[in-house]
Amino acid sequence: MKKVVIVGGGITGLSAAYEIKKRIKEENLSIDLLLIEKEKKLGGVFLTEKVDGFLIEGGPDSFEMFKPAPFELAQELGIEDRVISANEEMHRTFIFSKGKLQEIPRGLLGLAPDKISSLMFCPLLSLRGKIRAALELIIPPLKQQGTEISLGEFYKRRFGEEIYEVVAEPLFGSIYACIPETISIKTCWPRGLELEKKYGSLLRGMLVRRREARKASKGRPKEEKKKASIFRTFKGGMSELTNTLVERIGKETFLTEKEVSKIIFSPGEKRFFLFLESGEKIPADACIVATAPSYITSKLLSQIDVGVSDMLLRIPFASSVTVSLGFKKDGFEHPLNGFGLVVARTENKRVKAVTWSSTKFAERAPEGYVLIRCFLGNAQEETIVYESDEAILNAVREDLREIMGVTVEPMIYRIYRWRNSMVQYTLGHGERIAFIEERIKQYPGLYLAGNAYRGLGVGDCINDGKRAAQKILEYLRFKL
Ligand SMILES: Cc1cc2nc3c(=O)[nH]c(=O)nc-3n(C[C@H](O)[C@H](O)[C@H](O)COP(=O)(O)OP(=O)(O)OC[C@H]3O[C@@H](n4cnc5c(N)ncnc54)[C@H](O)[C@@H]3O)c2cc1C
Repeated sequence: MKKVVIVGGGITGLSAAYEIKKRIKEENLSIDLLLIEKEKKLGGVFLTEKVDGFLIEGGPDSFEMFKPAPFELAQELGIEDRVISANEEMHRTFIFSKGKLQEIPRGLLGLAPDKISSLMFCPLLSLRGKIRAALELIIPPLKQQGTEISLGEFYKRRFGEEIYEVVAEPLFGSIYACIPETISIKTCWPRGLELEKKYGSLLRGMLVRRREARKASKGRPKEEKKKASIFRTFKGGMSELTNTLVERIGKETFLTEKEVSKIIFSPGEKRFFLFLESGEKIPADACIVATAPSYITSKLLSQIDVGVSDMLLRIPFASSVTVSLGFKKDGFEHPLNGFGLVVARTENKRVKAVTWSSTKFAERAPEGYVLIRCFLGNAQEETIVYESDEAILNAVREDLREIMGVTVEPMIYRIYRWRNSMVQYTLGHGERIAFIEERIKQYPGLYLAGNAYRGLGVGDCINDGKRAAQKILEYLRFKL
């Protein structure tokens, strides 16, 4: 019997555990699986709460179907009927810029403008800004391909400063809680680079792809062509996914409220030893480290490989705060006629984005009430997590009054502090990961997985957990 230990019970660790458990059953493998989690609650940053009839997400609130792993996992678990789609007819996003709240044209929401007309009719841009953005068609690709360039620099070089400040920076910034000028385009927006390389221009590339998509859908019934939302969640919130995983994996697999303090590798025995803060020592033939943030993983591996440990320390994580607020609909000053808003950085607000949760998804607020969720902080404003509830709430009140004209008091509110939870794929991230992957090969049976490496969305983490599980099983096949 071989022993496999997973450290960390977020979506990554749970996906890995589910995959291994499934294969143990299907192939009758002689493997003893253990998942160690330092908290009482499994699921990591997945945190759904029901408060007075409101369904509140502290952590992730949805996943996107262009990375369908969460939906496929739901199908495998038999809970696909619990997946709900966002309210697509209300798919509008606003920007607060120059003291005004205005809608971002749909054609600009995909980060690169989808066509020239989206630019030309964009009320957010001056004529000069529109012309500069359209000149993207003739801007040559960067000569030194392969040179690391930031997402912000790439975008500004192609489309100009104005559209970057008014649309792209707030959209990118709110997705990654980042400063786009510090973020690696290769890692965060490889599609932008691909379009530039293949078509010489992103606008031209979008045009070709739209034509191809139109051709492909020709002849399909109208109803079929109707676009479903790419945003999905679960009726009872995102924790339905992690709770179902926990149930299917089985409670005998989990050791909760136990913190791993270090891992040691014994080359002679080809075994790992995991040391817990509480004093126990657990041997393992193979081990998946799915802890976050990566300075924790760095500490755990410091006695195995100083190089890997050092490189892990260079993957920064930023802190942020989410504040969910429930209001009575009657008297609430804003129509919440969309999925939400982002705030231009020139406005100097503490609130960076707001999701209009009860418009975006059904059943997030009881009849007669509305629910919104505000995001505060980013890689340059991390101290927000150390402020008191009162200070955070005052900042939210003040900004909501200016941005959305909200003056009424919430019926309920919840504040979630996310210390070092938003990974930042800064310049050089790809090289750092390549270094870690190469070096870790010296320790057969050891795998690292999670949002620090190959993608931070829920779908990426599920894929990464499964990938680690498959590697472990391939490795153990020779030992069993
Ligand atoms: C506020 C917020 C909103 C987000 N919104 C979205 C969204 O809407 N859509 C989307 O796709 N993505 C979203 N993300 C990103 C996505 O949710 C995360 O990247 C992903 O869930 C991370 O999963 P993980 O398992 O890798 O890490 P985590 O969830 O952080 O899990 C790591 C686990 O390891 C445990 N651990 C740490 N150290 C130890 C130790 N020494 N011993 C034992 N256990 C340990 C931790 O307690 C934790 O449970 C959001 C993230 C945040 C923070």
